[in-house]
Amino acid sequence: MTTNAAAVPTVKLLIDGEFVESSTNEWKDIINPATQEVLARVPFATADEVDAAVASAQKAFQTWRKTSIGGRARIFLKYQQLIRENMKELAALLTAEQGKTLADAEGDVFRGLEVVEHASAIGNLQLGEMANNVAAGVDTYTLQQPLGVCAGITPFNFPAMIPLWMFPMAIATGNTFVLKPSEQDPMVTMRLVELALEAGIPAGVLNVVHGGKDVVNGICDHKDIKAVSFVGSTPVGTHVYNRSTQAGKRAQCMMGAKNHAIVMPDANKEQTLNALAGSAFGAAGQRCMALSVVVLVGESAEWIPELVAKAETLKVNAGHEAGTDVGPLISRAALERVNGFVETGVKEGATLHLDGRNPKVPGYEDGNFIGPTLFSGVTADMTIYKEEMFGPVLCVMTADSMDDAINVINANPNGNGTAVFTRSGAAARHFQEEIDVGQVGINVPIPVPVPLFSFTGSRGSKLGDLGPYGKQVVQFYTQTKTITARWFDENEVGATVNTTITLK
Ligand code: NAD
Repeated sequence: MTTNAAAVPTVKLLIDGEFVESSTNEWKDIINPATQEVLARVPFATADEVDAAVASAQKAFQTWRKTSIGGRARIFLKYQQLIRENMKELAALLTAEQGKTLADAEGDVFRGLEVVEHASAIGNLQLGEMANNVAAGVDTYTLQQPLGVCAGITPFNFPAMIPLWMFPMAIATGNTFVLKPSEQDPMVTMRLVELALEAGIPAGVLNVVHGGKDVVNGICDHKDIKAVSFVGSTPVGTHVYNRSTQAGKRAQCMMGAKNHAIVMPDANKEQTLNALAGSAFGAAGQRCMALSVVVLVGESAEWIPELVAKAETLKVNAGHEAGTDVGPLISRAALERVNGFVETGVKEGATLHLDGRNPKVPGYEDGNFIGPTLFSGVTADMTIYKEEMFGPVLCVMTADSMDDAINVINANPNGNGTAVFTRSGAAARHFQEEIDVGQVGINVPIPVPVPLFSFTGSRGSKLGDLGPYGKQVVQFYTQTKTITARWFDENEVGATVNTTITLK
């Protein structure tokens, strides 16, 4: 928690259309991870402030739920335009507080922007169904009606994309929303929220509270919140899912990962090595879809020296510096944790081919840097394999066959993303059929689906049936109502009393 209460700007809450100062006594510094400069202070909202945000959303729901489809869609058309116009500013803000490179920060905003574009097509997405004449003179049709107040809790690693996974689709479907951004980097999220209001989202439809565990628990327990969307680590997500569903809410929790790639000996070598290095070490390994394990099958085990050589070409520096490939980790604590894993990997007998600890980064000596790090000889019982390290550390394993490699992946508790590299269509198809992972790439290392589809996850990477965007999210944020209707002409002759359940 912060000690220097003066001088730095404070991050505001958004309640009932007003950006307001929290009355809390608990604050946290937001720190530039490349320089340790304190950029702002974020409040941990009080229980009363959470209540006020929910009450505002509850009140706004009474009118927002009846807003026309066109009225909702046009706000998101305007919003996507505003995001595009402010892309550079958003990316710079994101890089300053999160650390990723400017190009990657633009990617973070852009992937969220795609969901905003999707939200502007809500008219087509939220259509019901109709069956004419299900019995004589009887029609059945469905309505997809909004639930009420919904909430979102987001992680530090995509402070633009993941909030945009949540509130645009919830609001476009007619709900109102309370957002709880990551307390580590909420500034770009707040700028996106300002732009959302500028685009026309009315007072109370979108609210923001900041904080940590207590605010999250307050959201999970709140009687007036109908649905919770969470993205973050597995322990927290499991807690949020259990607590929210026990309180009678819908919940979807997208959680931790251990993403494996399988490399077959027939793969295009240069393309594959570039893809492996980029996805393992880009964004300092802090992507939920970052590659953290590669299983080299058969003769591809001989590619390790070339993979190390690729990794060595990547430049570690502050995210805003030109030519940077690998920026800093989000915090000192994250850096110490990842450095600790590397030490444990050595102790547990893995072979350290490339040690990225304590890199020299002139001008940024205090930054939370660790460069690309690569272990081979990794086995499933090692800590570096079992834990989600969330840093630029790649574990290399070997297998005799694709099926052996698939067995390794399917035995891992997590199933977020995976990829296969091969030139064989038959091998790729076998992989896609047998692998139990939500996002599957074929010669694509980070197969995050575009918003026409839904993000998903298998086993320990996801709780709840429906994904946070795409078509599934319309189901998540709406209640299906089926209407069965019969209309009588004035002169229609009444039949007899019908005591059966059959419509004729
Ligand atoms: P985190 O779980 O620490 O935090 C996520 C959110 O939960 C934050 O808003 C935080 O304030 C809140 N929180 C933290 N501790 C809490 C507690 N004890 N009780 C209640 N709430 C709490 O995650 P993070 O470190 O911000 O993000 C990284 C994690 O998110 C990684 O595990 C990564 O794999 C995962 N992630 C998953 C996806 C996905 O789609 N599956 C996407 C992005 C990130």
